[in-house]
Amino acid sequence: KLHNTILELKGNIRVFCRVRPLLPDDGAAEGVAVSYPTSTESLGRGIDLIQNGQKYPFTFDKVFNPEASQQDVFVEISQLVQSALDGYKVCIFAYGQTGSGKTYTMMGRPEATDQKGLIPRSLEQIFQSSQSLQAQGWKYKMQASMLEIYNETIRDLLSTSRLIGSDPTRTETAVSGKQYTIKHDANGNTYVSDLTIVDVSTITEISSLLRLAAQSRSVGRTQMNEQSSRSHMVFTLRISGMNEGTEQQVQGVLNLIDLAGSERLSKSGATGDRLKEAQAINKSLSCLSDVIFALAKKEDHVPFRNSKLTYLLQPCLGGDSKTLMFVNVSPDPSSLGESLCSLRFAARVN
Ligand code: ADP
Ligand code: MG
Repeated sequence: KLHNTILELKGNIRVFCRVRPLLPDDGAAEGVAVSYPTSTESLGRGIDLIQNGQKYPFTFDKVFNPEASQQDVFVEISQLVQSALDGYKVCIFAYGQTGSGKTYTMMGRPEATDQKGLIPRSLEQIFQSSQSLQAQGWKYKMQASMLEIYNETIRDLLSTSRLIGSDPTRTETAVSGKQYTIKHDANGNTYVSDLTIVDVSTITEISSLLRLAAQSRSVGRTQMNEQSSRSHMVFTLRISGMNEGTEQQVQGVLNLIDLAGSERLSKSGATGDRLKEAQAINKSLSCLSDVIFALAKKEDHVPFRNSKLTYLLQPCLGGDSKTLMFVNVSPDPSSLGESLCSLRFAARVN
């Protein structure tokens, strides 16, 4: 729009597939179960899944093989990130079963420079670009929030009061009476009541945000890790730009979403809270796919209101917003069934 960001979108939704490397814990005995672009060509478009000698071919906008570095991946999305500075609403999702590399893709290991994921890299790029656009009269204000949706309940990942509480398993609502109600205003902006909003207009603020995020995830480690596979994490960066010369204004939003694990939960044995939880995850992921399919087919009715996640993201999905979905897959043969499900889901979206 403003700074000549050119994105060739064939629909509103693009899909990138990323295959993670085989890890020591994977059952490597039977060899890898997927064939993907070779190492000299880390960016192909095709991926084959191989089961009992049978080939299942898939094509996506891009396929990253296990050798693709965090930087290789970032290069391919940096224009999309940049368009948030131009006033676009952008959503980038990571979809896949637990252990397929979603969190590695989104957050990575922020403490290791070359393993930082999309969130720290996006923040750095947006910060740098906003600095250089100052020369053309642009002034930006950037604010971040980070929340988790677990069992259709919102939790604030940047709330410091949450870190102080001695029992991280208690929900914050119980501790503080905070409600986290999602509201959309007439200008298409979304607010979540009581949610912590952090200013990130300087490099120092960005690093302290990332520290806070890391800290908040390590509190009650066991509990959080267990829950992290069953909750959606939504990182939101709101960008307001104003040109002092021309008085142009832009409002962009960048959402980076680490979805709950897409694995089918075993039907046997789940009772009580576990069953309720399993149903909630299935429901929210299926609501997301309903919304995405309705948007892809340009249907009149898009069922945004059926889950917290889709309601929260409503203004950033559809319209002239830009959506990218990473489908993360593991090359481990024991994950074959789930990988096939993930690829089929993503192929329908694409
Ligand atoms: P998920 O969030 O989907 O459950 P993770 O991101 O936690 O999966 O990844 C599972 C494991 O695989 C982690 O130990 C992670 O560091 C590692 N991993 C994932 N993707 C990569 C990659 N591209 N390169 C190296 N290690 C990876
Ligand atoms: Mg994860």
